Order: sequence, then C-alpha cells, then structure tokens
Amino acid sequence: MWGSLKGFTVTFKHMFKKQVTVDYPERPPKLEARYHGRHVLNRHPDGLEKCIGCELCAWACPADAIYVEGADNTEAERYSPGERYAKVYQISYARCIFCGLCVEACPTRSLTMSNEYELAADNRRDLIFTKEQLLAPLTEGMERTPHPMRLGDSEKDYYGTGTDNPGASQGAEFSSVELSELLKQRTESERSSENA
Ligand code: SF4
Ligand code: SF4
Repeated sequence: MWGSLKGFTVTFKHMFKKQVTVDYPERPPKLEARYHGRHVLNRHPDGLEKCIGCELCAWACPADAIYVEGADNTEAERYSPGERYAKVYQISYARCIFCGLCVEACPTRSLTMSNEYELAADNRRDLIFTKEQLLAPLTEGMERTPHPMRLGDSEKDYYGTGTDNPGASQGAEFSSVELSELLKQRTESERSSENA
C-alpha cells in the first residue's frame, strides 16, 4: 500500500508541471528564425535565378546530398544573369544533415534555408527535391524564367550590389517563417492541381 502511494506521488507531481509535449500537427511548434529547414534557391527581383550552377555547394556538402549540372545561358533562353545557370539542381533529403555548409559556400546567396521541416516520405525518390521544387515562389514583379535581364545590361548590375546589399535581391530576405508559408502554399496548390 505504502509503495503504491509513493508511486502515485510521482504521477500527481507531474499533473501540475508545465507540459513539454506539443500538440502536433494541430499546433506546430514555433521555430526560431534561423532554424535549418529545407533549402530555397532564391531569385533576383525580376525573377531571374540567382544560382549560377557553379557546384560550390555540392563540393562543400559533407553528405554528398547535392547534385548540380550547369549550362550556358543564351540571349534567347536566359535563366540567370551572366554566363551560367543550373540546368539540373537536386538535393536529397535522405542524405542531408541540415548543417548549412552549402549555404556558406554559395557565392551568390542563391541558396538559403527555410523553416520548413515537414519532409517525411515513404520512399527515397520523393526525398530528392528538384530545382522546380527548390526555387523560391514568384512574387510581385517577378516573371517565370527564361527571360531577358530586366535590371541592367550585365550581371554586375545584379550581383554587384546583390552580395553587398542583400536588400537588392529577393527570396533570401523573406523572413524564414514567411517563406515557409509561401512554400507550403505552393506545395498544397501543386498537390491539388495533380489530384485534379
Ligand atoms: S545542409 Fe549540409 S548536408 Fe544538407 S545539403 Fe547542405 S551541406 Fe549538404
Ligand atoms: S546554389 Fe550557389 S553554390 Fe550552389 S551551384 Fe548555385 S550558385 Fe553555386
């Protein structure tokens, strides 16, 4: 009898303590702004892609999770300012350990990380995110690539201020929470158009 009562005191003590469990997914936990979630390939304010297909992120990745194939822009088909763009860009979330080294290695601030963490899948193929999935959503004033340079005649007009002054580019400067919300909306609309 005494042993049972002693055992129940532990239970009763916990009834009055602050709960540490979260009511997920109904009430998702609040994450810090610098949380390392899924990646985003950012755009310039006119919609051109900031990625130049240099592969530095892939070389920096300790988990070999990134695959990039670069290609040349042409005047008829331009995806980024300057010579090169990423024709193929993939990140495998079956491998990624969310260390952020790829973000540090990116010379154009193309690659950043959002707060999005709902990345579960029941097969490896769905965990490989393609460039189309990783590209930042188009916002006001942006146009889907390919299209000509709208903000100047050379890549310097884009990157010259873009790296020193992050305010001159779009995507990386969304708050992580805001960007995660936009990405979620896009994923949901893609899913509903697939089901239609
Ligand atoms: S966050 Fe780390 S593990 Fe993931 S892709 Fe980037 S460098 Fe690789
Ligand atoms: S994301 Fe950055 S580092 Fe990676 S290929 Fe594009 S420009 Fe290069």
